[in-house]
Amino acid sequence: LVSRKKKQEDTLVQLGSTVIGGGTPVMIAGPCSVESYEQVRQVAAALKQAGMTVMRGGAFKPRTSPYDFQGLGIDGLKILKDVASEFGLKTISEIVDPAHIEIACEYIDVIQIGARNMQNFELLKAAGNVRTPVLLKRGLAATIDEFVHAAEYIVSRGNTQVMLIERGIRTYEKATRNTLDISAVPILKQETHLPVLVDVTHSTGRKDILAPCARAALAAGADGVMVEVHPDPATALSDAAQQLNIPEFHDFLASVRKSGLL
Ligand code: PEP
Ligand code: MN
Repeated sequence: LVSRKKKQEDTLVQLGSTVIGGGTPVMIAGPCSVESYEQVRQVAAALKQAGMTVMRGGAFKPRTSPYDFQGLGIDGLKILKDVASEFGLKTISEIVDPAHIEIACEYIDVIQIGARNMQNFELLKAAGNVRTPVLLKRGLAATIDEFVHAAEYIVSRGNTQVMLIERGIRTYEKATRNTLDISAVPILKQETHLPVLVDVTHSTGRKDILAPCARAALAAGADGVMVEVHPDPATALSDAAQQLNIPEFHDFLASVRKSGLL
C-alpha cells in the first residue's frame, strides 16, 4: 500500500495550516524530553518567533539505561497540549505502549514511533487502528525494506497518514552517534508515496554538523527536518550533549534557510 507502484501521488499529512509532503519542507523542533511546563513553554515561544508550526517533545523516553530519566508520561503529553494550544503549535510525541495509543490521540497531533520500536508489531498495529498521523522512525539497524514494511503495518490497518524519518543507522563509524543514511531519502521518496524526513540530531549526535546535514537532507528531497532544542541543554535530562540552545537554534535555522532549501 505504501508503494509508489500502488499510488503515484504523494501522501500529504496536514497539520493545521502546515502540509507535510506537499513540496514545501517543514522544520520540526523541540526538546528531546518534556521536562516541565516552563521548559516546553520557552522552546515553544522560540519556535513561534521563528515561524515554526510543529513542536516535538518526548514524554515516554525509551532510554538505554533503566536508571536514566524515563519521561513524564501522560503528564508530559498534557504539558505539550497546554503549551501547544497557547502558542497555536501542532505536537509530536513518542508513544511506546500500544495501550497508550488511543489516549495519546487526545493530547498530541502526531504519534511518533521510535527507532527502538520500529518493529514492535503490536504498537504498529495499534497506531494503524487510529487516524492520528504517525511519524515512524527507522530502526537502529533496519534495512530500508524493513522500514517500508513497518510502515505497511500501519497503513494496512487503515491509517494512511504515515511519515517516515531517517535517524541514522548503526555502522562502524564512531565520529557520529549514528551514520546518517542520506541515500535513504531519495530511495524512500522513489519507492513510497509517504513524506520522508530526516532527524539530524539523533543521526549525527553532533551540534557542529547539524546545519550541513539538514541542507543535505533537503537537497536530497526530504520533506522535512527534525532537530532538538532545549532552553538550557547542559541541564537537560536526556541528550544534553546534542540539543541546541535557543540562540543556536536561530543560527541553525538561518543557516538552513540561507540555502534556499527551506
Ligand atoms: C527521539 O526522537 O526522541 C528518539 C528517542 O529518537 P530515536 O527513536 O530515533 O532514537
Ligand atoms: Mn533525543
